[in-house]
Amino acid sequence: MVESGGELSRSVSMDKIVELCKRRGFIFQSSEIYGGIGSSYDYGPLGVELKRNIKEAWWRDMISRRDDIVGLDSAIIMSPAVWEASGHLKHFTDPLVDCKSCKQRFRADEIEGDKCPECGGELTEVRQFNTMFKTFVGPVEDEASVAYLRPETAQGIFVNFANVLQATRKKLPFGIGQIGKRFRNEITPGNFTFRTREFEQMEMEYFVIPGTDEEWFEYWVNERLNWYIRYGVKPENLRLRPHPKEKLSHYSKATTDIEYNYPFGWGELEGIANRTDYDLTVHSEASGRQLTYFDEETQTHIVPYVIEPAAGADRAALVFLLDAYEEEVFEKGGKKDKRTVLRFHKAIAPIKVAVLPLLRNRPDIVEKAKSIADELRMVMTTMYDDTGSIGRLYRRQDEIGTLWCVTVDVQTVEEDNQVTIRDRDTMEQIRVPIEDVKAILMERLQY
Ligand SMILES: [Zn+2]
Repeated sequence: MVESGGELSRSVSMDKIVELCKRRGFIFQSSEIYGGIGSSYDYGPLGVELKRNIKEAWWRDMISRRDDIVGLDSAIIMSPAVWEASGHLKHFTDPLVDCKSCKQRFRADEIEGDKCPECGGELTEVRQFNTMFKTFVGPVEDEASVAYLRPETAQGIFVNFANVLQATRKKLPFGIGQIGKRFRNEITPGNFTFRTREFEQMEMEYFVIPGTDEEWFEYWVNERLNWYIRYGVKPENLRLRPHPKEKLSHYSKATTDIEYNYPFGWGELEGIANRTDYDLTVHSEASGRQLTYFDEETQTHIVPYVIEPAAGADRAALVFLLDAYEEEVFEKGGKKDKRTVLRFHKAIAPIKVAVLPLLRNRPDIVEKAKSIADELRMVMTTMYDDTGSIGRLYRRQDEIGTLWCVTVDVQTVEEDNQVTIRDRDTMEQIRVPIEDVKAILMERLQY
């Protein structure tokens, strides 16, 4: 981990990733046939597998494998009273200015000077613009039916605190985690999927005894930083950035961002916040319901403090793509060759294995390859491909990060009933009996 940003010599650029994502089916611009819509993206066949793997890894490590954390899936549309109490109606704003000549709108904290950056025109006074998406519930569009698309998943957890506590009988410290969409009407989204108006949040609220919150804050900062490293993100591309006290959100005692070295510079990947007892206290006051924990040791009702690691599945997907990307030059048969390879961690790789027939015009080879693919598909994501020469097929699989290629050749069907398994990273090949392939790959998939 480095403490300050520096230029890294990397072959990856945003243009290369955006192009690769579209061409190979990771990420498409939303509504593209109609010219697209600002900052909305769709995940293609590989992208959806990638994002599912990231969410599953998060869920497994943050919830399934821990006795102290449980899951939740709360609704996107909640009572507007929630946003009134949480402070979002008042505080969830961006400072905006309009240009009086060209009518363009900018974030006041993102422009320099007092003139329009587009035309040099005069700007209006700064106004606070609420970034929650407003909608109407029911058939009548009036003030009484106003509702909001949730700007964070956390509030669904806080308003269910008493329900979960009552149902699970958990003891402090314990956490509630959830993955779900959240919406924020960003005025300046951008950098592909880095900042979008709609994205999937992976959030966990960890409730602790007041006084132990600083310790748990440190614990979760380290835990979350190491999570990205465990799944293959290079430590030198990650750093921690504590927020200065004067820049903290209205509910926060301390916040630290895990930042990533994107091609456009260091930027947030995940934030860990000490939300104190703010949320439970305001919801308790506004709802009239007691949101406390009864501590048997001290025989008192206490309002727990909350440590919140909040990550985005979409931003994590972008980081895993960027960090895995490599252009490699290597020797092959005395000649220099080149390949693009996504070195995804095995838990993250969208396709685990590809089965390839050496000759696509030999029915016996094709049939054998298809039957191996059918068997592997039952236990891991498998792709069958016969649309090119074997060298070309390997390159195509490297470029999407497929861990292994199984190749069926003439020798397989005419002599030994064996196939080759080629490793993505080393490009080494071993020859094994067909009946062992599944067990070997299942074994290698363990981590
Ligand atoms: Zn202007």
